[in-house]
Amino acid sequence: MSDLVIKNYDVINDILIIKWEGDAESYIPLKKLRENCPCAGCAGESDVFGNVFKGKQPKRSEVSFQLTNLKLVGYYAVQPFWGDRHNTGIYRYELLQSLGEGES
Ligand SMILES: [Zn+2]
Repeated sequence: MSDLVIKNYDVINDILIIKWEGDAESYIPLKKLRENCPCAGCAGESDVFGNVFKGKQPKRSEVSFQLTNLKLVGYYAVQPFWGDRHNTGIYRYELLQSLGEGES
């Protein structure tokens, strides 16, 4: 189990800034966030043999990387709403944290 808790978040320019309970912060470029969308349509679904089937990749434009809303899902994930109405990606806190690594 993870003990990550989001205290606060903010979008400044094209960076999602997550303030975790404690002192840590994650800086995630929205483009990177979108490109790592974990939903079945973007990341693909794998069958029991581990083959990955990717759905048709939606065409992305500038609005695809604009965040219109961010919803907390339970105590473990967030659901971003993108400018092109894509909103099926559920990002677990661990994923957010790892996406923020190496960014500043
Ligand atoms: Zn997706």
